[in-house]
Amino acid sequence: MQKRLIALLVITPLLLSSQLSTSHAAAKAGAKCSKVGSKSVVGAKTFTCIKSGTKLIWDKGVKTTATTKQSVQLVSYANMKKSMLPRPVKNLFRYHYSPNAVNAYKEKIESELNFSMEYWTSVYDGTELFNVFYGTEKDLEWLISAWKTYDLDKYGYTAREYKGRLEREGNQLNAGSVPSQDGPSHLSFFRSSTRSIQPDSMIPHENVHIVQQQLTKSRTDQMPCWLREGTASLFGIFQTTEKYGLRVYDEAKRSEMNAYQGGSTEIRKFSDSQWFTHLKSLEGNFSGGCDFKNRFAYGAGLLLSEVLMADSGFEKMMEFWRAFSLEVDWRQSFKNIYGVELDIWYKTKGIPHVMSEYARIKRY
Ligand SMILES: [Zn+2]
Repeated sequence: MQKRLIALLVITPLLLSSQLSTSHAAAKAGAKCSKVGSKSVVGAKTFTCIKSGTKLIWDKGVKTTATTKQSVQLVSYANMKKSMLPRPVKNLFRYHYSPNAVNAYKEKIESELNFSMEYWTSVYDGTELFNVFYGTEKDLEWLISAWKTYDLDKYGYTAREYKGRLEREGNQLNAGSVPSQDGPSHLSFFRSSTRSIQPDSMIPHENVHIVQQQLTKSRTDQMPCWLREGTASLFGIFQTTEKYGLRVYDEAKRSEMNAYQGGSTEIRKFSDSQWFTHLKSLEGNFSGGCDFKNRFAYGAGLLLSEVLMADSGFEKMMEFWRAFSLEVDWRQSFKNIYGVELDIWYKTKGIPHVMSEYARIKRY
């Protein structure tokens, strides 16, 4: 019994793959097909050719199996694990705390930044201590003057952003950022002193932006939002998962994918061409930052980053980040590094994964 089962499991994938249609005409429910039992994958669905009366037509299609979809996530994870080996690091930060700063959060910042940097020793080569500021809701003026000491936030952009966050979020305030700017940046936290402290991937995520800032030579503002935020989320969740266990990855991924508020129903109905239009709209940087369109860049960006990580690995990703330091259009860099036109990659690799994951992972 046991043996038979194993044999069947081995044979089934072969049967499935031999039945996949090689025809280039895209299958559509009810359209003509030529061979009973042949299959065709379009977007997130697999169509099967069936006999209906005397005619052969494509059936309604079923959502592509979970195993196929999960494999991108698993391979992506395995590739990070293989290339990002944690090694001890010396302190790389200079910490600045407001008078009201909460001790438990100070400790969290220092231990998680240190933990996060251990994974980046093969690429991070910053020699200056990186400035980290942390203030509570009572300390915006303190933050502004502390930044001034280091000639940071010259145009008051972060000050304005944080002021808006304080007004909108009140006692749930939880802002952290590494602003894209010329020259040295900073990591700042502006956080409600009464908000509870939970395990999350925020600090590892922000730390990724520090590495990006270093590798792009302060040109993270040239990165498309889906890449800047998507890879920050990918590596941030990876490191948090390494710390707390695999279950965390699925939860964090689901949360990012559903964070496109109100749109979680809407995007689940997107056709591949609607996805294409939306991904193109995430290639810029926006006056409202990459939170543009209710954090859309995070969910879709995480999925696109998973595909790049699964197919081409960590070193290529680093090469791609570094390419933003050059005076070369990033779409050209993408083609040079990944060997495919960006728009073709969206259509053949990126969008099918985005669609199949939104079909697999439930909304809240
Ligand atoms: Zn971010």
